[in-house]
Amino acid sequence: MPRIERFSNVARIGPVEIGDHRDRHGRRETVAACTAPRCGWSNSYATRAAAELAARTHTCTTR
Ligand SMILES: [Zn+2]
Repeated sequence: MPRIERFSNVARIGPVEIGDHRDRHGRRETVAACTAPRCGWSNSYATRAAAELAARTHTCTTR
């Protein structure tokens, strides 16, 4: 299970957690990570809206 640390505005949409953080260049980005066992899906997005959309439409590859 991926751990989300040093993130702000963490929210959960289904099995997916999303949170804002700054990347190594100081830019704000939003990461979405699925917490389902054996799924391991995660991605970073330039906007929170994109991350929320991805979280909402995410389908686990392992069921
Ligand atoms: Zn998943």
